[in-house]
Amino acid sequence: MKTNNLGYPRIGSNRELKKSSELYWAGKISAEELLATAATIRKENWQLQTKAGIDLIPSNDFSFYDQVLDLSLTLGAIPNRYAEIAKTKPALDLYFAMARGSQKDGQDVVAMEMTKWFDTNYHYIVPEFTKNQQFSLFSEKIINEFIEAKQLGIHTKPVLIGPITYLLLGKEKEEGFNRIDLIDALLPVYFEILEKLEAQGATYIQLDEPFLALNLTDKERNTYTKVYNAINKRFPNLKVILANYFDCFGENLETALALPVDTLHLDLVRCPSQLDDILQSGKLANNVKLSLGVVDGRNIWKNDFKKSLALIEKATAAIGNDRVLIAPSCSLIHSPCDLDLETNDKTLTPEIKQWLAFAKQKIEEVVVLRNLASGEITENDQAHYQENTIANENRKTSKLIHNEAVKNRVASITSGDDQRKNVFAFRREKQIEALKLPLFPTTTIGSFPQTAEVRSWRAKFKKGELSQYEYDTLLEKETEETIRFQEESGIDVLVHGEFERNDMVEYFGEQLDGFAFTKNGWVQSYGSRCVKPPVIYGDVSRPNPMTVKWAEFAQSLTPKWVKGMLTGPVTILQWSFVRNDQARSETCTQIALAIRDEVVDLEKAGIKIIQIDEPAIREGLPLRKEEWAAYLDWAIKAFRISASGVADDTQIHTHMCYSEFNDIIQNIADMDADVITIECSRSQMELLDAFADFKYPNEIGPGVYDIHSPRVPSNEEMVHLLEKAAAVIPADQLWVNPDCGLKTRHWDETKKALIEMVAAAKQMRVAV
Ligand code: GLN
Ligand code: ZN
Repeated sequence: MKTNNLGYPRIGSNRELKKSSELYWAGKISAEELLATAATIRKENWQLQTKAGIDLIPSNDFSFYDQVLDLSLTLGAIPNRYAEIAKTKPALDLYFAMARGSQKDGQDVVAMEMTKWFDTNYHYIVPEFTKNQQFSLFSEKIINEFIEAKQLGIHTKPVLIGPITYLLLGKEKEEGFNRIDLIDALLPVYFEILEKLEAQGATYIQLDEPFLALNLTDKERNTYTKVYNAINKRFPNLKVILANYFDCFGENLETALALPVDTLHLDLVRCPSQLDDILQSGKLANNVKLSLGVVDGRNIWKNDFKKSLALIEKATAAIGNDRVLIAPSCSLIHSPCDLDLETNDKTLTPEIKQWLAFAKQKIEEVVVLRNLASGEITENDQAHYQENTIANENRKTSKLIHNEAVKNRVASITSGDDQRKNVFAFRREKQIEALKLPLFPTTTIGSFPQTAEVRSWRAKFKKGELSQYEYDTLLEKETEETIRFQEESGIDVLVHGEFERNDMVEYFGEQLDGFAFTKNGWVQSYGSRCVKPPVIYGDVSRPNPMTVKWAEFAQSLTPKWVKGMLTGPVTILQWSFVRNDQARSETCTQIALAIRDEVVDLEKAGIKIIQIDEPAIREGLPLRKEEWAAYLDWAIKAFRISASGVADDTQIHTHMCYSEFNDIIQNIADMDADVITIECSRSQMELLDAFADFKYPNEIGPGVYDIHSPRVPSNEEMVHLLEKAAAVIPADQLWVNPDCGLKTRHWDETKKALIEMVAAAKQMRVAV
């Protein structure tokens, strides 16, 4: 029984790669220095896994930016706009130009597009394909890294995104072809790679094909059959591990089981039931092995050995020990590196820490599980098993986790709790009466520029160099200035500016019970960017009001309406490590109740307009369409629970950044927010069409300018966009606002842009 790892975090336990890359980009270190950092990380990762006892250790799981971009470079899929750089610059600079764009030496090229990797928070660089796309072996990274490990005495298993997943991850940049048809042009380059690897002595190759977990067309499915038969025919001795993860195979199961591969990797964390399906199907060929992904690569919880061993034993009983491999569910790049580096006992108490495992610990778990399952048990395995059992047992009953009051409250939610007292049409009349806003009311999404100064106050406060009083006084001053600016510029619904918030999830998590924070639990999000998600370990409740003080303070400064600003339950859930001992829907409902209490308290404090941000609703959609309805059902309900505790004339706003809502517009409408603000400007209001076609009944604020750029839009541009919006949505339903929060912008451009925005709204009022 072998142990198999799919990928190890490459950012470095102390984010060494992040730091080096950023220094290199800033011109502060040489390419050689960056390459040396990278080589050290690879070496340490390989040695760590060797020492732990992993049999199939991945290589080519390292990346300077992204593994999909690596592959585009490997295959020579380099868009034309980089041709000049490709000719004149070293490969590393070409690579970073594709990742980040380049404005150097008179060249000015934009970066390639980036998007989320399946349902993770990791972003990959989207391959660009043309009709006559050619592929050729351009970079030999995968071969070089295999050799590099070999020279260290480590025989690795190179990992590569499979050809079909690679094509499906990309985009057609021209009309008139389907990217899947590029397979015939692509396959010869894969062959070349495999040939070279074999020549270097590679015996295994891991081909990642997570598209097998998605809904595929017949043509795509048939391409799998064709491609993997061709690979097998050409390389009969190469052991292909076909890795599927993030879900089961669904309707692709039969196709997958018929592929002539050495091993099929299964994500048994996301979909444990597929093991029975496969074993009972009678369709698993008797020479195919199963790699059982029992250790969660996407979350931070200690494995439940008893549960995993039950799965493993089921498999070994059916197909024998030597056809079973033990593995994490997916690549560990989605886990933080090393729990041993968490030394801050205040937030991550020893009690909580005993329930966790990061990448390094997960590797150990994989090995211990193999030993336990295969009967070659050492004393260390025995101790590990005992510790595992104790931790999992005490997690079931820990007072830290289980709060009866919270559980009872969730259990006693009734059907009315997720409904406003009256329907929107009725509420609207009340709100018009109470709020007395003009047509095309202007507002912002919440945050105002977080200057280096504001951030330095927070840093000093955390270090104890500023007292609570001093810190609050500084924030009050910043808030007051922001209120004054909004008054002067004529904005109708003001915000306090969110200066007290480090991050829109962390800020709330820090004030809610059931959340803990890591010191070093970084996970790569894109390129050198990492996130440090909060850990939701227990029942969530709100001991005290979280935002009322700031909203009240801001409202006390002005006769205009100040909008209260909250993060919604789905977004808090989505951007955290969520407990795995109860359904996500349950945890989400608990958060919803906490936010509901905050909404009610804001209303009591005199706040008449309250925004509950839900930018993550869409990204929470499951990979397979047949699972969407169940998710949307609880997610939308959670939002409604959070929003429904207030009177008819209190106006609830929500905000979402990505606004491609065509397929879930009914659900967005079901949220029943009185006002929704969305990102629209970059699409020239096209994203509004989904709302127009649907005849979305409530009010909408389509963003009229892009906050991701420092560019100041003109009044005319925004009037033009508003006219476009008014052509498809009745004018009295429209609000005027930027695309998103202004946190990352500078004051200078922010002020100019908002003044222009108010002028545009005024012009629209005159026009109708
Ligand atoms: N209120 C938040 C802000 O303005 C919303 C951020 C977001 O949508 N991601 O920063
Ligand atoms: Zn946003």
